[in-house]
Amino acid sequence: MTKLLLPPALLVLVILVFITISRQSNLNYPASLLLPTPQPAQNFGEIIDQKLSPENKKNQIQFSLPKEATKHSDINVPILTYHYVGGNPNPNDKARNSLSVDPFQFEQELTWLVQNGYQSVTLKDLYNNLTLVKPLPSKPIILSFDDGYIDFYYNAYPILRKYNFEAVSFIPTGLVGKPAYMTWSMIEEISKLGGVEFESHGVNHRGLTSLSDRELLEELEGSRKVLESHTGKQVDFIAYPYGSFDLRVTGVAQKVGYKAAASTIFGDSQSKDWLFALRRIKVPGMSTLPVFASRLRQAS
Ligand SMILES: [Zn+2]
Repeated sequence: MTKLLLPPALLVLVILVFITISRQSNLNYPASLLLPTPQPAQNFGEIIDQKLSPENKKNQIQFSLPKEATKHSDINVPILTYHYVGGNPNPNDKARNSLSVDPFQFEQELTWLVQNGYQSVTLKDLYNNLTLVKPLPSKPIILSFDDGYIDFYYNAYPILRKYNFEAVSFIPTGLVGKPAYMTWSMIEEISKLGGVEFESHGVNHRGLTSLSDRELLEELEGSRKVLESHTGKQVDFIAYPYGSFDLRVTGVAQKVGYKAAASTIFGDSQSKDWLFALRRIKVPGMSTLPVFASRLRQAS
C-alpha cells in the first residue's frame, strides 16, 4: 500500500515544482512579449557575425583589431550590452536564448553591481571624461540595450528605475512599432520620465560596411533625425548593427555629427583615440550570476 501511495505524492510534488518554475519564467508578460524572435530582420547582436558575407567579415576583422586600439587605454569603463530582458517563450529559438536575460536574473545582476561598488554613468559621462577629463566615480559602469525590444519598456526600465541605474537604449528607428519592438509613444514616455539616453542603431538594422554611400548616409543620418524629432533630445551616439564598421563608416558617422560609437569589440578599456570603437561586454543570455561576474573580470 505504501508503494502505491508514493508515486501520486511524487507526482504532486513534480507538478508543484513545474508550476513554480513556469510562473517564474513567464511572470505576467503581455502577449506581445511572447512573440518569437523576429527572423527576417537580423537583430541578433553578436550572432550576426556568422551571417555577414566573407567580405564584410574581412572588413570588420581588419578594422576591429588594430594594434593601437588594443594597446591604448585611457580609462576602464565596462559598457554592458543587453538585448532582451525577458524569458524566451520558444526554447527552440536558440538565437533568442543567447540574447535573453530573465528579469529575475537582470535584477540579480543589478544588485550584484551595487554590492560590488559599481555606479551607473551615461555614455555622455564617458565621452566627457575622455574628451574633457571630467571625473567619473571610482567604479563606473554603463548599461546599454540594443534593438529597442518591447520588453525594455515592460521589464528592464522598471527594474533600472528601482535601482536608480541610468541606461542607453540603441534604437533601429525603422523597426519601432513592429511586433516585439517598442512603439514611439513608449520611447517618448520613457524619454520624458528620464534615466535613459535614446541613441541610434541605424534605421533598418543593416550591416553598415556593405551599404552604398547613399544607403550608409540614410542609415546614419536618417535614424538620428527621426530619433531627435521624437524625443526632442540630441542624439550623439550610435551602436553599429552587428558590430559592423570600417573607416568609411566611422568617417560618415563623424561627418553627420555623431560624437562616438559603440562596437561589439570585447573589453572595458576606452580611449579618446578610439571614440568610434568603444568596447562593450555582451551579457550572455540564460546565464548565471557567476558567469556574469566572470565576464566583467575577463574584460578588464
Ligand atoms: Zn542590434
